[in-house]
Amino acid sequence: MLNVRLIKCPACGREISSQAISCPNCGQPIAGAATNQDVKEKSFFEKYVWLLILLFFLGLFMKIIANMR
Ligand SMILES: [Zn+2]
Repeated sequence: MLNVRLIKCPACGREISSQAISCPNCGQPIAGAATNQDVKEKSFFEKYVWLLILLFFLGLFMKIIANMR
């Protein structure tokens, strides 16, 4: 999965690709570690969102079954 999005250059504020090694406008090196951490945090968050959705539907399903009886 390709994760290309725009981030702001910490030096000049211009929007550049998160995949860029350095800013094409001012040459500021972009910290790859920060981008990797951001991606990791996003997938971690998404994992919990899916878990919450699953639990929500499980609870809804149990409630429907309880009402049927
Ligand atoms: Zn820049």
